[in-house]
Amino acid sequence: MKNIYLLGATGSIGEQTIEIIRANPQDFKLKGISGYSNFAKVKKIIEEFDLDVVCVKSKEEVNQLKKSNNYLNCFYGENGLVDLVSFNPKEEIVIINALVGMVGLKPTIKALEMNRDVLLANKETLVVGGHIINSILKNSRAKLYPIDSEHNALWQTLDGVDLKTVKRLVITASGGAFRDKTRDELEKVSLRDALNHPNWEMGKKITIDSATMMNKGFEIIEAAFLFDFDINQVDAIIHRESLVHSFVEFVDGSIIAQIADHDMRLPIHYAMYYPKRSNSIAKKLDLLQLNNVHFEVLDEKRFPCIKYAKDAFNIGGSMRTVLNAANEVAVKLFIENKIGFLDIEKIIYQEMQRHQVIDFPSVEEIYQIDSEIKQRVYTEY
Ligand code: NAD
Ligand code: MG
Repeated sequence: MKNIYLLGATGSIGEQTIEIIRANPQDFKLKGISGYSNFAKVKKIIEEFDLDVVCVKSKEEVNQLKKSNNYLNCFYGENGLVDLVSFNPKEEIVIINALVGMVGLKPTIKALEMNRDVLLANKETLVVGGHIINSILKNSRAKLYPIDSEHNALWQTLDGVDLKTVKRLVITASGGAFRDKTRDELEKVSLRDALNHPNWEMGKKITIDSATMMNKGFEIIEAAFLFDFDINQVDAIIHRESLVHSFVEFVDGSIIAQIADHDMRLPIHYAMYYPKRSNSIAKKLDLLQLNNVHFEVLDEKRFPCIKYAKDAFNIGGSMRTVLNAANEVAVKLFIENKIGFLDIEKIIYQEMQRHQVIDFPSVEEIYQIDSEIKQRVYTEY
């Protein structure tokens, strides 16, 4: 039996994780959650599961919860996420981080410092703090396991492999909502168009990140940190059917792919059950679906966010914080209909040009830079 604290329980990954817990009560116990944007959903989860602890958005929400659930331990806000992951320190708890944005960094660090395993969907945490996370992992018993489908696929292939025999990691990209549009056509696209992902539904931010392809840029950085690879050994290609999730190319010329229907409940399930494999509720692939798969070059001129992400990684240090902060605030402005779609990449480029790099930024420096950039860009637009 694994006890779970689920951060971001009300989101797309959070909901799918709860489906897996619900289907396997003999193996998992949901003991803690956080939810920020949907209080009604938080209350429903509290009704359904026997929780010890929750983290919500505000003090007012805590007061409301306390009226009907006096026994429940409640925290709120960003610090509350850290209180949540460190709750009940003597109990063995697995943390699932399904938060969106760099708000996931501090709770991830705290969980690993407490020797609690973290199953990570929240890629922004590695983008900004990969150097800190990897140094904590060196001195911790805790493990970090990826839920992001391409990285979960790489992990499945690389488990037990001598990494020196691997030449290249390749992750696939659906191409997002605008994969068939020219740069000129991108001038006029709307928020509604951008949220219309061709293959599946996810949270708003990652759906926009898929349309700009920043999601794939982040994932290249994520792979480099997770598997300790040089970024030049990590590539991405467009694969519109999203059935092959990654390839591992070995020095002898063999290439091993992980293939499955595109259903996030499989990578979440794999990470939750690791090192065992077991029946999952994920959709299964009919092999004949592979009769019609396509691969295309991912053109960095067409999708400059890929280049910005690689540049940020190569420059290193705090430039990755800038990449992420500028992207988070620009996506927010786009969702609020305050800027156009192409302004997102323009803002990221401008902020990266302006920045004076700090080589190994501390957590405090990361939060400081993040908040400066978000405030400045938000007031400028
Ligand atoms: P989502 O927007 O559906 O859910 C995000 C969750 O984070 C919600 O529970 C929300 O309440 C919480 N949250 C948001 N802002 C917060 C804040 N400031 N403080 C505390 N909590 C906050 O997002 P999602 O699609 O589930 O994605 C979650 C993460 O997983 C992202 O990093 C995304 O890139 C990654 N991911 C998602 C998918 C997918 O299919 N949805 C696939 C791969 C990776
Ligand atoms: Mg992914």
